[in-house]
Amino acid sequence: MLESIVEGRKMELYAERRTSEMHYCTFCEKICYKKKPVKALGNRWICIDCLRQLKEVLDSLKQWEEELTLEEEMKKQLGEGLGLQEL
Ligand SMILES: [Zn+2]
Repeated sequence: MLESIVEGRKMELYAERRTSEMHYCTFCEKICYKKKPVKALGNRWICIDCLRQLKEVLDSLKQWEEELTLEEEMKKQLGEGLGLQEL
């Protein structure tokens, strides 16, 4: 009887530990256990795969912004050239 209580408690502790090691990636919605690295993102989690992808995006952010600025400039110039600056 006592043994089964002890066993039950062990299982509970195991489940608790398991849950605390378990994180749900906000981006790919995968459940990640301890073997998969996850980072806290506020009160959410992001796995290493998504973090790498995010880093790639962030690395290209400066270039992207430059492209967008250039595009805006071109639109403006085109508009001015056509006398559409009023629009
Ligand atoms: Zn992920």
